[in-house]
Amino acid sequence: MYEFQYHRATSLDDAASRLADEEAKLVAGGMTLIPTLKLRLAKPTELIDLAAIPSLKGITEEGDAVVIGAMTRHADVNRSDVVKRAIPALATLAGHIGDPAVRNRGTIGGSIANNDPAADYPAAVVGLNATVRTNKREIAADQFFTGLFETALQPGEIVTAVRFPKVAQANYQKFKNPASRYAIVGVFVARTPAGVRVAVSGAGACVFRVPAMETALAANFSPDAIKDIQIPQDGLNSDIHASAEYRAHLVNVMARRAVQACA
Ligand SMILES: Cc1cc2nc3c(=O)[nH]c(=O)nc-3n(C[C@H](O)[C@H](O)[C@H](O)COP(=O)(O)OP(=O)(O)OC[C@H]3O[C@@H](n4cnc5c(N)ncnc54)[C@H](O)[C@@H]3O)c2cc1C
Repeated sequence: MYEFQYHRATSLDDAASRLADEEAKLVAGGMTLIPTLKLRLAKPTELIDLAAIPSLKGITEEGDAVVIGAMTRHADVNRSDVVKRAIPALATLAGHIGDPAVRNRGTIGGSIANNDPAADYPAAVVGLNATVRTNKREIAADQFFTGLFETALQPGEIVTAVRFPKVAQANYQKFKNPASRYAIVGVFVARTPAGVRVAVSGAGACVFRVPAMETALAANFSPDAIKDIQIPQDGLNSDIHASAEYRAHLVNVMARRAVQACA
């Protein structure tokens, strides 16, 4: 580890003003950031801890939506009665992230800001057509995740919450890496008032939707409707865990399982 200053921010304004220094970095649960620092892959001059900012924590209902604060831990999303009632698929997804240690430290804000290609929350954020709130603006899910570990966040921008529309009919199916539990492929299917959405994690550089499946499912919401829809292997991840061909196959299998579970 390189040397750095540690600052426990007491308010969002406090964190934002410290973040004006381009060499400073936010820390949420540290689940990704601390190993990165230990490997000397990052050299921030200051770590700004968001843990003591009360407004960033918690889960509330806002009419037809559930709003989850950026510093809310995965375990709290998994246990939340509000989430279980309004969007059960989201509670279940949170309960299958990593192991108990990861779920009790990792946060939804850290997960989506990091945008690991194999992370689970991006599939739910896009699949449910959520809105990401920051200290500066609101960003629609389809615009938030922009590439490998890349998001629409600008320098100095802090995720404050994610607003999920309530969608009872949704399901997430993950073919997980047995060691880390990250998604080799994860598919989130949701029947929203604005139509069916299919969002895929793990298969590509970044979460993506499958319009052909969405159209087919809008006409006939059954696994059979998508059984012949294969996604192109071009551009899919190929690594020691799975080839692009295998991942393409898994997208179809996981999507059909998710539709079956929804129905
Ligand atoms: C062993 C292991 C297994 C895992 N398995 C899974 C899995 O199965 N599925 C899955 O989805 N994830 C998995 N994860 C990731 C985990 O869920 C965490 O969410 C992720 O590591 C981010 O951690 P964190 O919330 O502690 O953020 P940190 O590590 O503290 O921060 C991550 C990055 O986000 C930035 N950041 C943090 N908060 C904000 C904010 N509010 N606004 C803007 N930027 C911010 C930080 O500056 C940093 O760059 C795993 C992690 C580990 C270590």
